[in-house]
Amino acid sequence: MALVNEHFLKLPNNYLFADIAKKVNAFKTTHPNVDVISLGIGDVTQPLCPAVIEAIHRAADEMATQASFRGYGPEQGYDFLREAILKNDFLPRGIRLDMNEIFINEGAKSDTGNIQELIRWDNSIGVTDPIYPVYIDSNVMIGRAGVVEGDHWSNVVYMPCTAANGFIPQIPDRRVDVIYLCYPNNPTGMTLTKDELRKWVNYALKNDALIFFDAAYEAYIQDDSIPHSIYEIRGARKCAIEFHSYSKTAGFTGVRCGYTVVPKEVSAATISGERIPLNHLWYRRQCTKFNGTSYISQRAAEAIYTPEGKQQVRATIDYYMQNAKTMLTTLQNLGFEVYGGQHAPYLWVKTPNGSGSWQFFEEMLYGAHVVCTPGIGFGPAGEGYIRLTAFGQQEKTSEALSRIEKWMK
Ligand SMILES: *Cc1c(COP(=O)(O)O)cnc(C)c1O
Repeated sequence: MALVNEHFLKLPNNYLFADIAKKVNAFKTTHPNVDVISLGIGDVTQPLCPAVIEAIHRAADEMATQASFRGYGPEQGYDFLREAILKNDFLPRGIRLDMNEIFINEGAKSDTGNIQELIRWDNSIGVTDPIYPVYIDSNVMIGRAGVVEGDHWSNVVYMPCTAANGFIPQIPDRRVDVIYLCYPNNPTGMTLTKDELRKWVNYALKNDALIFFDAAYEAYIQDDSIPHSIYEIRGARKCAIEFHSYSKTAGFTGVRCGYTVVPKEVSAATISGERIPLNHLWYRRQCTKFNGTSYISQRAAEAIYTPEGKQQVRATIDYYMQNAKTMLTTLQNLGFEVYGGQHAPYLWVKTPNGSGSWQFFEEMLYGAHVVCTPGIGFGPAGEGYIRLTAFGQQEKTSEALSRIEKWMK
């Protein structure tokens, strides 16, 4: 008899976005003539920029002739892309990394989910709450998260981020071995200053803990005093692994490419106290389980770093951030308590009159025909909030805002 990994059975069956779709479909069935606008999607809407498209065409043509055809590439990614990353994403911020510390991935979701394979099942993990669900669910699957107790996992330390603490996670009073941080944050759209981030790096160094830092939204930062990378903090290369993605930076959600940084100094201990560098372990893991990101995707990513590519990518980010700005001012003028939206494509909105996330979701769907994401879907501290995204088309976003305006008045 083959036995199943029962940890999978602990995962809740309902998937947030499936639940939302179900409720939206129910509305559409009873209101067939009403068109609904979604400000809930976490996907981009604008097409790839011309520099990227040209690179994809060129790479496809190379694949068409024997002389320039490419099969399996290096597991860690092609040098041309890793060099461009070092030169553009890190050197200008005074961060010196080695090529072998960069691992090209197929998007950050897989690696943020897979990285926990490098640590023992009985490490404790700490997460900010609300949170990108991948961090917890990937730990549930291996048995590290424990069991569900109400709305919490028994072996997960939650660090609530709410209006009451300015969305700044506090150092927990219980020991945690591994901390997941994501800044700019999905779902709250909030950031950490260098001083706040330094507290976490110092905590990790002092307590021999690891930080898994998700920088998927760093391209949305509008003010360079906010850290784009955790390696801007001294000592982080001893304790932090960082994840990058071109999905939100350059609309690569359907192309699939990003990278993971595992500095050579980051290590974890064996039971007998020997230090094991995680860079080597991750390389070993990738060589076994991963055969590289497609050549075409890597050439597409390289094009983002050309002068035209940089300018075009910036224009699309500005387009989304224009949405965010309009949303922020409109909602604030309507009297909503709104957070985020300044350095991230997300706005985190307090539901009025203390209504629950799902209740307000339904009220807005039926009253304004606009879809949001209920905050509770991202963790217990998300109750009483909703998430709105700035990834929509500008016309649709404006239309959604005027509907909300009319509905509120
Ligand atoms: C969108 C997103 C990612 C990126 O996922 P990809 O697999 O690269 O598309 C990573 N982390 C967070 C928090 C995200 O919201």
